[in-house]
Formats: sequence, C-alpha cells, structure tokens
Amino acid sequence: MANEGLNWQRAVIKVGSALIAPDGKQVSGQYVLPIAKFINELKALGKEVVLVSSGSVAAGRGLINSHEQGTTIAEKQAMAAVGQAKMMANWQHHFNFPCGQLLITQGDLKDRRRYVNIKNTVRELLANQVLPIINENDTVATAEIKVGDNDNLAALVALVCEADALFICSDIDGLFDADPNRFPNAKLIPEVNQITPEIYKLAGGTKNKIATGGMKTKLQAAEKATSNGVNTFIINGKKSSVFNDILENKSVGTWFKPLALKDSAKKQWLRHTLKAAGSLQIDDGAANALLTLGASLLAKGITAVHGEFARGEAIDILANNKVIARGLSQYSSAELLQISGLESKNFETILGFKHKNEVVHRDDLVLFKD
Ligand code: GLU
Repeated sequence: MANEGLNWQRAVIKVGSALIAPDGKQVSGQYVLPIAKFINELKALGKEVVLVSSGSVAAGRGLINSHEQGTTIAEKQAMAAVGQAKMMANWQHHFNFPCGQLLITQGDLKDRRRYVNIKNTVRELLANQVLPIINENDTVATAEIKVGDNDNLAALVALVCEADALFICSDIDGLFDADPNRFPNAKLIPEVNQITPEIYKLAGGTKNKIATGGMKTKLQAAEKATSNGVNTFIINGKKSSVFNDILENKSVGTWFKPLALKDSAKKQWLRHTLKAAGSLQIDDGAANALLTLGASLLAKGITAVHGEFARGEAIDILANNKVIARGLSQYSSAELLQISGLESKNFETILGFKHKNEVVHRDDLVLFKD
C-alpha cells in the first residue's frame, strides 16, 4: 500500500539515543550511517531536512564518572556537555556539507522572540545547504524548562521549521495493536487517521534503558504534529530497508495522517509550545463571549486568579473547572487580583495605569473547543 511517500518538501527526522549510542556509552556509526545515506539521498532529490538527534548523554556516559547508586543531574549534564560534540562529530563524518548545531529548551520555545530567532536561523541554514541538527540544551536545562524528551521536541521543531513531514526513528517498526514484546501476534497499524484515547491505550512506557521516550511520547509528538498539518511517521530506524522503502514510495511503519491546518504560526505556538504559568476562572457570560462571539477576555468576567505570573505570560482560562482557552495575559496575577470583576475604565484609579482594556486580547488567545 502506498502512502504519502515523498509528497513533502521539508522533513524533521528524529533519531533517538538507542540509535546513536546503542551500547549506551559512546556514539556508534552502526545506525547513523544508513540514516545519513538517506539524508544524502533526500537532499539530492531537493528535499530539505532538519535533524533532531538525541544521544548526548549516552555519548558522554563513558567519559564522566557517575555515582554507583545512580547518575546525578550534574553528572548527566556533564555527560551531555561532552556528548553533544561527539554526537555532532558522528553525524558530520557522513556528510560533505556542513552541519549546524542548535541546542534549545522549552524555555526558548516559550519565548516568542527566541522562537522567531530559531525559525529564522533554521531557514538561513537550509538556504545555505547546512543540515541543522537540534537537541535539547541538556547542560542548562532543569526539569521545569525542559521539553524532556526528543519526540515532543521534534514535533515542536517541526512546527517552528514549518516542516510538512516528521519521521520518528525508533527501534520498533511502528505502532502495534498490542505490545509486540509480550504478544508475538501483535499487528503493526499502518495508518492512523486520528489519535484517540484508544490509540493512547496502545502505548506502554519505554523499556529501553538508554532512551527517554516511549511510544507514549511518540504519540504525543504525532498528535502535536498532525494537528498542525504535519504528516508523521514512526519507523524502525534500525532497519536500513525502511529508508529505501520511503525513497521508493512504499508504505513504512505507522503513518499518522495530518488533520486540516487551522492555526496560524502564532496560534500553534500558543496552543502547543507554551506552558501556562497560572489560570483564570471566568463566568458563563465571558465564556460564551470567548467561545461563540470571538471576543477578547475582559477583567469583568474573571471570578478567580490562580498562580503567580507576570505580564506577558501564558495562562489557562477555565470555565466551570474546564480549560477552554489559553492566552497571553496583559496583566500580572498581582494586578489581576485587584481588577478582576471590574470594568476597564476603573483600572487607572486602582492600579495607577492601564496596559490594555482587555486582559487577554483575541489575537493572543486560542480556544480548546476545536
Ligand atoms: N536530549 C537527550 C540527549 O541528547 C535525549 C532526550 C531524548 O532522547 O528524548 O541525550
């Protein structure tokens, strides 16, 4: 059965640690070589490729001493510092064009200016025939500012780079209807039209000691990407035949079909990249205005403020305890505690200033009803 095959122009290819450093201690060319060959062939066809490569921690593991009882965060970050360079060199070795490294965190993707900088840098690298290789900046990132796994990072990268395909190279053939490690008769699911809760039930956790993600993070990534129009494939990166099949337009792994593209780039960023720093509870009238009238959120409809956030941070908007929207707040939580429930004409008397009439402007808002 044929699939979308090569019917795309720009792809993000995500390669996990198990393929970069199969022994968990140092980089290896074993699986990297066929993937590099694939990238070379795609480029020869005029396709654009952005690589998301894991493996920095695994690549540095053999060079940093770690505690017997378990590796500490600082030790892992030191491993990443050594390993990023080794991982990059392992790729560069196979290309006769330059590779460019981008180390990013959730914190960078959250900041609109940095997000646009990343987008522009990737565009420039591609225009100059450089292969961008992206990984999380593990040496500076702590849990709160991390994406945490490179499956989700790759989906976010696909959005920043405006890619139209995402290939997640795993060490399993794709998504199965049961755990293939436990059920030998488990069948590969070749196509998924929509990622439903039933699809999520098919995913267990990771069993691989080197890898961070499992099928669950791959499905989260596929959901982010497909809901923004990106064809997503989970494929077995250990089988070089898979790459030949893609080049021959044959069906490979599991293909998650894209849903219609609905959001602008800014709204995609709001919906998928931002983590809310707090939340606002609103009354039914305000909820109705947001959901059906396309209105902005005014202070008048706010009934409670939760969490501490600064002006410009993302907040979730709740009606009847359900998140109905996310947006950027024009006021800090401390200011909102004073002006909630009030008309905007009173802001100056109470706060001494007024940033905007709206608390969350329509342009800075995404709804979760759709
Ligand atoms: N950024 C991590 C590394 O390079 C990998 C995270 C992941 O594979 O999900 O080791």
